[in-house]
Amino acid sequence: MNTNAAMLKSLGISQEVIDFGENVCKELEKRFKEIDETAEYNQLKVIKAMQEAKVSEACLLGTTGYGYNDIGREKLEEVYANIFHTEDALVRPQITCGTHALALALMSNLRPGDELLSPVGKPYDTLEEVIGIRPSKGSLAEYGITYSQVDLLEDGSFDYENIKKAINERTKLVTIQRSKGYQTRKTLSVTQIGELISFIKGIKPEIICMVDNCYGEFVERIEPTDVGADMVVGSLIKNPGGGLAPIGGYIVGKKECVENAAFRLTSPGLGKEVGASLGILPQFYQGLFLAPTVTASALKGAILAANLYERCGFAVLPNGSESRHDIIQSITFGNPEGVIAFCQGIQAAAPVDSYVTPEPWDMPGYDAQVIMAAGAFVSGSSIELSADGPIKPPYAVFFQGGLTWPHAKFGILKTVQNMVSRGLIDLKAIQ
Ligand SMILES: *Cc1c(COP(=O)(O)O)cnc(C)c1O
Repeated sequence: MNTNAAMLKSLGISQEVIDFGENVCKELEKRFKEIDETAEYNQLKVIKAMQEAKVSEACLLGTTGYGYNDIGREKLEEVYANIFHTEDALVRPQITCGTHALALALMSNLRPGDELLSPVGKPYDTLEEVIGIRPSKGSLAEYGITYSQVDLLEDGSFDYENIKKAINERTKLVTIQRSKGYQTRKTLSVTQIGELISFIKGIKPEIICMVDNCYGEFVERIEPTDVGADMVVGSLIKNPGGGLAPIGGYIVGKKECVENAAFRLTSPGLGKEVGASLGILPQFYQGLFLAPTVTASALKGAILAANLYERCGFAVLPNGSESRHDIIQSITFGNPEGVIAFCQGIQAAAPVDSYVTPEPWDMPGYDAQVIMAAGAFVSGSSIELSADGPIKPPYAVFFQGGLTWPHAKFGILKTVQNMVSRGLIDLKAIQ
């Protein structure tokens, strides 16, 4: 029989796991409809931005060498600026990853003697070396740029009193990480980010407010630049690349901030004028075009995982019913076995490298062993169905992506199946 259940069974999912999944999916119909409506809005926003920039077939051709007069590159940057409602944008394959984009934004807009402030607690792991929280060659600390941090309060809200105290005459730039990254705090909504920016600008209007937007693009109808951010930064192998961009990062914002970043990326004096796009522009454009619906698929997957694992008694963040501001789902297993079983389940559901068994390893830039599951078309792409977890307490897995909803759903069922088969979940005790 050509039923979905028969196909799932042929891929190793038991009837009991299929039923568990279907029951939960039924309850999520209303939320999934809301996600589809947001995706429609953002799809139209992207089309409008492309139309307004008059994207033409010629934009899909690339340049070589210096890349002067690369109209495809220039139009793409105009499209990004239109989407984010900013003065300017830098969208380049020469920006190698999200960390690079963030490092570029920071290093180009800060000068010796300046201070960087994070009012939302510890930043993403790889930024610790960029800032110099963990010593590293070429860090901001080596250049005499100091760092100060104010943690979120117990309940996840901003510690306004201490943020105010932390702002001094040297505070030049504030970095706000939207997504929780590898932490078990809440992801910030764009509205919350706007409130924080207003507060900071109220104290010192000239502070540059930068948002690390990784995993947040197209989840809501507005972006941080719509609520006062001067600069927003992200990776193209996450949401805005739509799964097609094979490399790249973006910086959007005020003209001066973007120009500083461009002068640092290429060279003082050259800035945005150079940087051949080679043959990469079709994937950048088409990936951006697909990004709103791809992000919606990933969101549905995250919500399904939250609801399934919540029912199994695990702590999940966000929980099964709260609103979403990024595509990351964390599930806390409390032991390495759960993290490993989950990641191996995601890998086993992949279109590429499904027969490979991932194991924890010492990944550069991270302070504990990490297990990563990704059978991706683009290596390391985390808009594709992927999961990773540092092997350290509280033993939480961070799960994200899914280019299509059917794949996200299958991957999650595969993780549940893995947990059931290894005795880490007893579905009979739950249903
Ligand atoms: C992924 C991520 C980064 C770094 O991006 P890479 O492409 O992995 O270097 C930075 N901040 C956050 C919140 C992220 O999720």
